[in-house]
Amino acid sequence: MKKNIDWENIGFGYYKTDYRYVADYKNGSWSEGKLTTDENIVISECAGVLQYAQTCFEGLKAYTTQDGSIVTFRPDLNAQRLIDSCERLCIPPITEEMFLEAVDSVVKSNADYVPPYGSGATLYIRPYIYGSSPVLGVHPAEEFQFRMFCSPVGPYFKGGAKPIVIRVTDYDRAAPHGTGHIKAGLNYAMSLYAIQEAHDLGYSENMYLDAATRTKVEETGGANFIFVTKDGKVVTPKSGSILPSITRRSLVYVAKNYLGLEVEEREVLLEEVKDFAECGLCGTAAVISPVGKIDDHGKEICLPSGMEEMGPITKKLYDTLTGIQMGRIEAPEGWIRKIV
Ligand SMILES: *Cc1c(COP(=O)(O)O)cnc(C)c1O
Repeated sequence: MKKNIDWENIGFGYYKTDYRYVADYKNGSWSEGKLTTDENIVISECAGVLQYAQTCFEGLKAYTTQDGSIVTFRPDLNAQRLIDSCERLCIPPITEEMFLEAVDSVVKSNADYVPPYGSGATLYIRPYIYGSSPVLGVHPAEEFQFRMFCSPVGPYFKGGAKPIVIRVTDYDRAAPHGTGHIKAGLNYAMSLYAIQEAHDLGYSENMYLDAATRTKVEETGGANFIFVTKDGKVVTPKSGSILPSITRRSLVYVAKNYLGLEVEEREVLLEEVKDFAECGLCGTAAVISPVGKIDDHGKEICLPSGMEEMGPITKKLYDTLTGIQMGRIEAPEGWIRKIV
């Protein structure tokens, strides 16, 4: 039976559910994973994750579609990205198969927490792997744990998606040849100061520039950019230090193959942002958050789409991708994984 939760008003935060998945890496191999009801972890005070931040994570959602099925969206891409993150952090990677089985079992066992269709709420799934054995001299841990829990989260936009105001920040998120392209906790630790400062000054997000030249648009702390030109082309920044967003890659596909739009994946100069017609931030949580205004050190870039609603092309992209996710529009082969 569905839990008695006020789905529309739960917000985005940790909400404990009944089961989570755990697998351990010891003596050179991953154990068979299992579900547990224990949400607490006991590890060495000297665990690699605690001393040198050896950890990476993923984020994806399960939700109820129009026909009442419970599904996940392209979880194979989350699996692949977690494997890539592991490799860059000297963590023994799990397999795609193990990842997908873990997602299925966490969602199935917590099916009562999957919000109903139409509520706008979803079940957020958080997979992560961390070094659990003691590490004092700087080297990778020898033992690791792969865990996955889930938490129901409320609709990202309550009462419609209002455009946000962001700022160009002087802090850097990722260095060339660094770890910007993987989903590592360390990328978030170093962005906390910048986001706190942005919030204190009234901005919703930071626009990070490339660290080497500070002339090119990279992304925000947790979402990729998508722009629309005045003649209706979709433009998205290309860089080796951007996290490859699954939402952004899906939107690019939708733009080309569902909407017949031209798409350019290329370097985007900060200087040309003032010429764009629309701007949005894309990631799993919101799909797209429209940006209305960008503050570049006191110089305001006002997107022509304004501060009241999403730009028309952003809206089409949003409606099409959410339509595919919710089962109202036919999905490309392999995008939707049915769990229940
Ligand atoms: C997770 C994340 C995104 C969004 O990726 P999705 O796969 O679309 O959720 C974008 N940027 C950063 C830095 C991220 O960590």
